[in-house]
Amino acid sequence: MENTEKKPKILIIYTGGTIGMVETPNGLQPFDFSHLMDNVPKVGMLGYDIESVQFPQPIDSSNMNPSYWNQIVKDIADRYDEFDGFVVLHGTDTMAYTASALSFMLRNLRKPVVITGSQLPIGDVREDGTENLISALQVAAAKDADGNPMIQEVVISFQDYIVRGCRSTKFTSTGFHAFKSFNYPTLGQIDLHITYNEPYLMRHDVQLPLQPFYSMDSNILVMWLYPGITEDVVKAQLATPGIKAVILRTFGAGNAPTEQWFLDALADAVSRGLIIYNVTQCLNGGDEQKRYYTGDMLAKAGVISGYDITVEAAVTKMMYLLGSGLSKEQIVQYLTTSLVGEMTVE
Ligand code: ASP
Repeated sequence: MENTEKKPKILIIYTGGTIGMVETPNGLQPFDFSHLMDNVPKVGMLGYDIESVQFPQPIDSSNMNPSYWNQIVKDIADRYDEFDGFVVLHGTDTMAYTASALSFMLRNLRKPVVITGSQLPIGDVREDGTENLISALQVAAAKDADGNPMIQEVVISFQDYIVRGCRSTKFTSTGFHAFKSFNYPTLGQIDLHITYNEPYLMRHDVQLPLQPFYSMDSNILVMWLYPGITEDVVKAQLATPGIKAVILRTFGAGNAPTEQWFLDALADAVSRGLIIYNVTQCLNGGDEQKRYYTGDMLAKAGVISGYDITVEAAVTKMMYLLGSGLSKEQIVQYLTTSLVGEMTVE
Protein backbone atom coordinates (compact mmCIF):
# COMPACT_ATOMS: atom_id res chain seq x y z
CA MET A 1 0.00 0.00 0.00
CA GLU A 2 1.25 3.48 -0.82
CA ASN A 3 2.48 5.50 2.17
CA THR A 4 0.39 8.68 2.06
CA GLU A 5 1.95 10.23 5.17
CA LYS A 6 3.53 13.57 4.36
CA LYS A 7 7.31 13.65 4.60
CA PRO A 8 8.57 16.16 7.18
CA LYS A 9 9.88 19.24 5.40
CA ILE A 10 12.88 20.79 7.13
CA LEU A 11 15.03 23.80 6.26
CA ILE A 12 18.67 23.66 7.37
CA ILE A 13 20.35 27.03 7.87
CA TYR A 14 24.13 26.67 7.96
CA THR A 15 25.79 29.67 9.61
CA GLY A 16 29.26 28.20 10.08
CA GLY A 17 31.16 26.59 12.93
CA THR A 18 33.00 23.33 13.25
CA ILE A 19 30.08 21.08 12.32
CA GLY A 20 30.10 21.91 8.60
CA MET A 21 33.82 21.54 8.06
CA VAL A 22 35.83 18.94 6.20
CA GLU A 23 39.55 18.30 6.04
CA THR A 24 41.11 19.74 2.88
CA PRO A 25 44.76 19.99 1.81
CA ASN A 26 44.56 23.55 3.24
CA GLY A 27 43.16 22.53 6.61
CA LEU A 28 39.59 22.54 7.93
CA GLN A 29 37.20 24.38 5.62
CA PRO A 30 33.41 24.78 5.53
CA PHE A 31 31.77 22.50 2.97
CA ASP A 32 29.02 23.55 0.60
CA PHE A 33 25.68 22.63 2.16
CA SER A 34 24.05 22.25 -1.20
CA HIS A 35 26.12 19.02 -1.26
CA LEU A 36 24.91 17.94 2.17
CA MET A 37 23.90 14.45 1.01
CA ASP A 38 27.36 13.83 -0.46
CA ASN A 39 29.02 14.82 2.79
CA VAL A 40 26.51 13.25 5.18
CA PRO A 41 24.79 10.50 3.15
CA LYS A 42 23.10 9.09 6.27
CA VAL A 43 20.75 12.09 6.27
CA GLY A 44 19.07 10.52 3.23
CA MET A 45 18.04 7.52 5.37
CA LEU A 46 15.63 9.77 7.30
CA GLY A 47 13.43 10.08 4.22
CA TYR A 48 12.71 13.76 4.91
CA ASP A 49 12.28 16.52 2.42
CA ILE A 50 15.29 18.71 3.28
CA GLU A 51 16.44 21.99 1.82
CA SER A 52 19.34 24.13 2.97
CA VAL A 53 20.55 27.69 2.85
CA GLN A 54 23.87 28.97 4.09
CA PHE A 55 25.56 32.20 5.00
CA PRO A 56 27.47 33.48 1.95
CA GLN A 57 30.60 33.41 4.12
CA PRO A 58 30.12 30.81 6.91
CA ILE A 59 31.44 32.28 10.16
CA ASP A 60 33.17 31.16 13.29
CA SER A 61 30.46 31.90 15.82
CA SER A 62 32.80 34.18 17.76
CA ASN A 63 31.93 36.68 15.02
CA MET A 64 28.18 36.35 15.61
CA ASN A 65 26.31 39.67 15.96
CA PRO A 66 22.77 41.10 15.64
CA SER A 67 22.99 41.53 11.87
CA TYR A 68 23.70 37.80 11.47
CA TRP A 69 20.78 37.10 13.85
CA ASN A 70 18.62 39.19 11.51
CA GLN A 71 19.75 36.99 8.63
CA ILE A 72 18.74 33.79 10.47
CA VAL A 73 15.40 35.32 11.50
CA LYS A 74 14.75 36.39 7.89
CA ASP A 75 15.63 32.95 6.51
CA ILE A 76 13.06 31.45 8.89
CA ALA A 77 10.39 34.14 8.49
CA ASP A 78 10.57 34.17 4.68
CA ARG A 79 9.85 30.44 4.45
CA TYR A 80 7.98 29.87 7.71
CA ASP A 81 4.80 28.47 6.13
CA GLU A 82 6.69 26.21 3.73
CA PHE A 83 8.52 24.09 6.34
CA ASP A 84 7.58 21.96 9.33
CA GLY A 85 10.74 22.85 11.19
CA PHE A 86 14.10 24.59 11.03
CA VAL A 87 17.57 23.37 11.97
CA VAL A 88 20.22 26.02 12.51
CA LEU A 89 23.82 24.81 12.34
CA HIS A 90 26.03 27.07 14.38
CA GLY A 91 29.42 27.15 16.12
CA THR A 92 29.19 26.19 19.75
CA ASP A 93 31.00 29.23 21.18
CA THR A 94 28.08 31.67 20.99
CA MET A 95 25.30 29.19 20.33
CA ALA A 96 23.60 29.93 23.67
CA TYR A 97 23.50 33.67 22.82
CA THR A 98 21.96 32.95 19.41
CA ALA A 99 19.48 30.50 20.93
CA SER A 100 18.46 33.20 23.41
CA ALA A 101 18.34 35.97 20.80
CA LEU A 102 16.18 33.94 18.41
CA SER A 103 13.80 33.10 21.27
CA PHE A 104 13.02 36.80 21.61
CA MET A 105 13.26 37.76 17.92
CA LEU A 106 10.96 35.04 16.54
CA ARG A 107 7.81 36.38 18.19
CA ASN A 108 4.79 34.03 18.19
CA LEU A 109 6.96 31.10 17.10
CA ARG A 110 4.85 27.93 16.90
CA LYS A 111 7.25 25.66 15.00
CA PRO A 112 10.53 23.98 15.99
CA VAL A 113 13.76 25.94 15.61
CA VAL A 114 16.47 23.47 16.59
CA ILE A 115 20.04 24.70 16.91
CA THR A 116 22.97 22.34 16.86
CA GLY A 117 26.66 22.16 16.06
CA SER A 118 29.53 19.95 17.07
CA GLN A 119 32.79 19.85 18.94
CA LEU A 120 34.56 17.93 16.12
CA PRO A 121 33.98 18.49 12.38
CA ILE A 122 31.79 16.09 10.40
CA GLY A 123 34.83 15.45 8.21
CA ASP A 124 36.90 14.01 11.12
CA VAL A 125 37.33 10.27 11.67
CA ARG A 126 35.92 10.54 15.19
CA GLU A 127 33.24 13.18 15.35
CA ASP A 128 29.95 14.22 16.96
CA GLY A 129 28.59 16.29 14.07
CA THR A 130 26.73 13.60 12.12
CA GLU A 131 24.85 12.38 15.17
CA ASN A 132 24.01 15.91 16.33
CA LEU A 133 22.74 16.86 12.87
CA ILE A 134 20.59 13.76 12.50
CA SER A 135 19.14 14.09 16.01
CA ALA A 136 18.37 17.78 15.39
CA LEU A 137 16.52 16.89 12.17
CA GLN A 138 14.49 14.27 14.05
CA VAL A 139 13.68 16.73 16.83
CA ALA A 140 12.58 19.30 14.22
CA ALA A 141 10.30 16.71 12.61
CA ALA A 142 8.78 15.29 15.82
CA LYS A 143 5.01 15.56 16.38
CA ASP A 144 3.01 15.19 19.57
CA ALA A 145 0.00 12.88 20.01
CA ASP A 146 -2.30 15.48 18.40
CA GLY A 147 -0.10 15.83 15.34
CA ASN A 148 1.22 19.26 16.37
CA PRO A 149 4.95 20.04 16.42
CA MET A 150 6.45 18.52 19.56
CA ILE A 151 8.78 21.54 19.84
CA GLN A 152 7.15 24.96 19.44
CA GLU A 153 10.09 27.13 20.53
CA VAL A 154 13.83 27.62 20.00
CA VAL A 155 15.89 24.77 21.46
CA ILE A 156 19.45 23.52 21.45
CA SER A 157 19.75 19.82 20.65
CA PHE A 158 23.25 18.65 21.45
CA GLN A 159 24.64 15.20 22.24
CA ASP A 160 22.22 13.64 24.76
CA TYR A 161 19.95 16.56 25.58
CA ILE A 162 17.42 19.03 24.25
CA VAL A 163 17.37 22.28 26.25
CA ARG A 164 15.32 25.46 26.00
CA GLY A 165 17.32 27.96 23.93
CA CYS A 166 16.88 30.91 26.29
CA ARG A 167 17.94 28.75 29.28
CA SER A 168 21.08 27.30 27.69
CA THR A 169 24.74 27.84 28.53
CA LYS A 170 27.90 26.37 27.00
CA PHE A 171 29.69 24.98 30.02
CA THR A 172 32.58 22.95 28.58
CA SER A 173 34.91 23.73 25.71
CA THR A 174 36.04 20.11 25.28
CA GLY A 175 33.22 17.77 26.38
CA PHE A 176 30.79 16.46 23.78
CA HIS A 177 27.89 17.28 26.07
CA ALA A 178 28.58 21.01 25.83
CA PHE A 179 25.25 22.64 26.80
CA LYS A 180 23.27 22.71 29.97
CA SER A 181 20.16 24.35 31.27
CA PHE A 182 21.00 24.94 34.91
CA ASN A 183 17.73 26.49 36.02
CA TYR A 184 15.08 24.71 33.95
CA PRO A 185 14.52 21.01 33.32
CA THR A 186 15.88 19.59 30.05
CA LEU A 187 13.16 19.37 27.40
CA GLY A 188 14.21 16.02 26.08
CA GLN A 189 16.69 13.18 26.21
CA ILE A 190 18.46 11.73 23.21
CA ASP A 191 19.49 8.13 23.84
CA LEU A 192 18.18 4.91 22.31
CA HIS A 193 14.97 6.83 21.78
CA ILE A 194 14.33 10.55 21.72
CA THR A 195 11.97 11.28 24.59
CA TYR A 196 10.37 14.59 25.51
CA ASN A 197 9.73 16.10 28.91
CA GLU A 198 6.29 17.20 27.79
CA PRO A 199 5.08 19.11 30.88
CA TYR A 200 8.00 21.52 30.42
CA LEU A 201 7.62 22.18 26.68
CA MET A 202 6.34 25.56 25.52
CA ARG A 203 2.68 25.43 24.59
CA HIS A 204 0.48 28.28 23.35
CA ASP A 205 -3.22 28.87 23.90
CA VAL A 206 -3.58 31.05 20.86
CA GLN A 207 -2.15 30.69 17.37
CA LEU A 208 -0.72 33.96 16.13
CA PRO A 209 1.23 34.72 12.96
CA LEU A 210 5.02 34.78 13.29
CA GLN A 211 6.24 38.31 13.94
CA PRO A 212 9.94 38.59 13.20
CA PHE A 213 11.93 41.27 15.01
CA TYR A 214 14.99 42.91 13.43
CA SER A 215 15.98 45.81 15.69
CA MET A 216 18.23 44.52 18.47
CA ASP A 217 19.94 47.44 20.23
CA SER A 218 23.36 46.39 21.49
CA ASN A 219 24.19 49.55 23.45
CA ILE A 220 24.69 47.65 26.66
CA LEU A 221 27.49 46.87 29.09
CA VAL A 222 28.16 43.70 31.08
CA MET A 223 29.95 44.64 34.32
CA TRP A 224 31.52 41.70 36.19
CA LEU A 225 32.09 42.32 39.91
CA TYR A 226 35.05 40.87 41.85
CA PRO A 227 36.45 41.54 45.30
CA GLY A 228 38.74 44.55 45.06
CA ILE A 229 37.09 46.18 42.04
CA THR A 230 38.07 49.84 42.23
CA GLU A 231 36.00 52.98 42.12
CA ASP A 232 37.80 54.13 38.97
CA VAL A 233 37.05 50.89 37.14
CA VAL A 234 33.36 50.96 38.11
CA LYS A 235 32.92 54.64 37.28
CA ALA A 236 34.75 54.35 33.94
CA GLN A 237 32.51 51.45 32.88
CA LEU A 238 29.31 53.17 33.95
CA ALA A 239 30.43 56.28 32.01
CA THR A 240 30.83 54.32 28.74
CA PRO A 241 29.41 56.59 26.01
CA GLY A 242 26.15 55.48 24.42
CA ILE A 243 25.20 52.66 26.77
CA LYS A 244 21.58 52.41 27.84
CA ALA A 245 21.70 49.42 30.17
CA VAL A 246 24.07 47.42 32.34
CA ILE A 247 23.98 43.71 33.13
CA LEU A 248 25.55 43.61 36.59
CA ARG A 249 27.20 40.23 37.30
CA THR A 250 26.77 39.94 41.04
CA PHE A 251 27.82 37.40 43.67
CA GLY A 252 25.72 34.46 44.88
CA ALA A 253 22.08 35.33 45.42
CA GLY A 254 22.52 38.72 43.71
CA ASN A 255 24.84 40.46 46.16
CA ALA A 256 27.39 43.23 45.70
CA PRO A 257 29.67 45.43 47.85
CA THR A 258 27.86 47.88 50.13
CA GLU A 259 30.65 50.46 50.14
CA GLN A 260 29.05 53.88 49.78
CA TRP A 261 31.05 54.88 46.67
CA PHE A 262 29.76 51.78 44.89
CA LEU A 263 26.10 52.30 45.80
CA ASP A 264 26.39 55.99 44.90
CA ALA A 265 27.90 55.12 41.51
CA LEU A 266 24.96 52.79 40.76
CA ALA A 267 22.36 55.29 42.00
CA ASP A 268 23.99 58.00 39.89
CA ALA A 269 23.89 55.75 36.79
CA VAL A 270 20.21 54.99 37.43
CA SER A 271 19.44 58.69 37.82
CA ARG A 272 21.15 59.29 34.45
CA GLY A 273 18.61 56.89 32.93
CA LEU A 274 20.67 53.68 32.80
CA ILE A 275 18.81 50.44 33.44
CA ILE A 276 20.79 48.10 35.70
CA TYR A 277 19.90 44.39 35.66
CA ASN A 278 21.12 42.09 38.41
CA VAL A 279 22.35 38.72 37.06
CA THR A 280 24.28 36.42 39.36
CA GLN A 281 27.69 35.00 38.41
CA CYS A 282 26.46 31.56 39.59
CA LEU A 283 25.36 29.16 36.87
CA ASN A 284 22.75 27.57 39.06
CA GLY A 285 20.14 29.44 41.08
CA GLY A 286 19.43 33.09 40.74
CA ASP A 287 19.28 36.34 42.55
CA GLU A 288 17.00 37.06 45.43
CA GLN A 289 17.76 40.72 45.96
CA LYS A 290 15.79 40.88 49.19
CA ARG A 291 17.52 37.92 50.86
CA TYR A 292 20.66 39.64 52.10
CA TYR A 293 21.31 43.20 53.16
CA THR A 294 23.95 43.40 50.39
CA GLY A 295 21.33 42.59 47.73
CA ASP A 296 18.65 44.76 49.30
CA MET A 297 21.01 47.73 49.02
CA LEU A 298 21.12 47.14 45.25
CA ALA A 299 17.34 47.16 45.03
CA LYS A 300 17.34 50.45 46.97
CA ALA A 301 19.87 51.88 44.47
CA GLY A 302 17.39 51.11 41.66
CA VAL A 303 18.85 47.82 40.39
CA ILE A 304 16.32 45.40 38.84
CA SER A 305 16.34 41.70 39.70
CA GLY A 306 17.02 39.22 36.88
CA TYR A 307 15.91 36.27 39.04
CA ASP A 308 17.47 33.09 37.58
CA ILE A 309 18.05 34.36 34.03
CA THR A 310 21.28 33.33 32.26
CA VAL A 311 23.68 36.05 31.17
CA GLU A 312 23.11 35.00 27.55
CA ALA A 313 19.36 35.52 27.90
CA ALA A 314 19.84 38.74 29.91
CA VAL A 315 22.08 40.28 27.23
CA THR A 316 19.76 39.40 24.36
CA LYS A 317 16.55 40.25 26.24
CA MET A 318 18.00 43.67 27.01
CA MET A 319 18.95 44.20 23.34
CA TYR A 320 15.44 43.13 22.35
CA LEU A 321 13.64 45.41 24.83
CA LEU A 322 15.89 48.41 24.11
CA GLY A 323 15.24 47.96 20.40
CA SER A 324 11.47 47.69 20.86
CA GLY A 325 10.79 51.40 21.28
CA LEU A 326 9.34 50.95 24.78
CA SER A 327 9.40 53.46 27.63
CA LYS A 328 11.86 52.89 30.47
CA GLU A 329 8.96 51.88 32.75
CA GLN A 330 7.76 49.27 30.25
CA ILE A 331 11.29 47.89 29.83
CA VAL A 332 11.64 47.56 33.61
CA GLN A 333 8.29 45.78 33.76
CA TYR A 334 9.26 43.31 31.01
CA LEU A 335 12.67 42.68 32.57
CA THR A 336 10.90 41.24 35.60
CA THR A 337 8.42 39.24 33.50
CA SER A 338 9.17 35.95 31.77
CA LEU A 339 8.52 36.60 28.07
CA VAL A 340 9.47 33.28 26.47
CA GLY A 341 10.21 31.06 29.46
CA GLU A 342 13.64 32.62 30.08
CA MET A 343 13.28 32.97 33.84
CA THR A 344 11.39 31.78 36.90
CA VAL A 345 9.52 34.60 38.55
CA GLU A 346 8.07 33.63 41.92
N1 ASP B 1 34.92 28.44 17.35
C1 ASP B 1 33.91 27.56 16.80
C2 ASP B 1 32.62 28.35 16.67
O1 ASP B 1 31.99 28.63 17.65
C3 ASP B 1 33.72 26.38 17.66
C4 ASP B 1 32.60 25.49 17.20
O2 ASP B 1 32.22 25.48 16.07
O3 ASP B 1 32.08 24.77 18.01
O4 ASP B 1 32.26 28.70 15.58
